[in-house]
Amino acid sequence: MTEKLYEKSGSALNFSATVLSCERAGDGYAVKLDRTAFFPGGGGQACDVGLLGGVPVSGAALDGFDVIHYVNTPLTVGANVEGAVDAAVRFPRMQCHTAEHIVSGLIHAKYGYDNVGFHLGCDEVTMDFNGELSREQLDEIEDLANRAVYADLPVTVSFPSPAELPTLSYRSKLDLTENVRLVTVEGIDVCACCAPHVEKTGEIGLIRLLGFIRYKGGVRIRLVAGERALADYRARCRASQSISEMLSVPQEKIADGVARALANADALAASNAALRRRVAELLTDGLEKTDGNRVFFLSEAESDPDVARLIVKRALPETAGLVAVCYGENENGFRYIVASEKTDLRAKLPEINRALSGRGGGKPGMAEGSFAASREEIERFFLGK
Ligand SMILES: [Zn+2]
Repeated sequence: MTEKLYEKSGSALNFSATVLSCERAGDGYAVKLDRTAFFPGGGGQACDVGLLGGVPVSGAALDGFDVIHYVNTPLTVGANVEGAVDAAVRFPRMQCHTAEHIVSGLIHAKYGYDNVGFHLGCDEVTMDFNGELSREQLDEIEDLANRAVYADLPVTVSFPSPAELPTLSYRSKLDLTENVRLVTVEGIDVCACCAPHVEKTGEIGLIRLLGFIRYKGGVRIRLVAGERALADYRARCRASQSISEMLSVPQEKIADGVARALANADALAASNAALRRRVAELLTDGLEKTDGNRVFFLSEAESDPDVARLIVKRALPETAGLVAVCYGENENGFRYIVASEKTDLRAKLPEINRALSGRGGGKPGMAEGSFAASREEIERFFLGK
């Protein structure tokens, strides 16, 4: 059985050990030691990485009561090696995990809800509780959690005997009676947990509840803590600063600035729609009835599918043949809408597309697509000019 240094202390990251075995595993090797600080993963926290005898450890896992370390280079059995867990990876995870215990302990004590789901992701933690909480209640929990951080409370580990266990009150009570490891945040929480934690709550720095959603009859809370809370705060400050610069409003008033910009955009959209209707009216006012076809070409400023559709709608009653509206001119040709009240365009369109190198399709009364043809070619086809 590997002596598990990580179970006793979350800050013991450097250690000496003897290599007990080194066996091929996939492309690399699986190493067992007599003792280790590498946490093999569990309780929602991922396994450690680091160095062993100068060789990178890509991960660790439990094999019965032993910890396996995965390396690419074989280590000599019987050799004494120095191990170093990567603190830059481990420490932020411990900050978040201990923060999760504090928040879960506070919610359990105040509302009696259990933490029924926990995920420690790369950037944030999600926690599920089996009861509903309001924003105000979570604000209060956040205040209390940060007070527990300011108080720099000890976080201790204990292994109660099977006789002691039934007399103790703690979260995550399983049916286990042996090897139960309790993590205690003094005065805040006691919980069965296998993962390493910070030793004093002050190491967490900051606990922030980012938000929550209703989830399976309870709530799912998103939490950041420590280094990740700082990174999150920095990213949010940068985002609000760039919004403030774009809108030329002070940072504390960016919500008002965004609301004004959106209202402006709505007003512009409404006036654009009115202008489009006006353009369509101007281009179709006073049309006389014709037995033949009609073709409209929209200038760059008028080119808009909505304008084209409005023109079609207004010109159709005055046109016995086809109405074609060409817009969006580019180096290849035009976008088009062709419509008719009498001609079935599904039957007619292949001929039109063939003549004008067109692509597109539609319904019996209306088709849309593009012509790779010049204005003269289009006019000649539809008007016989
Ligand atoms: Zn835990």
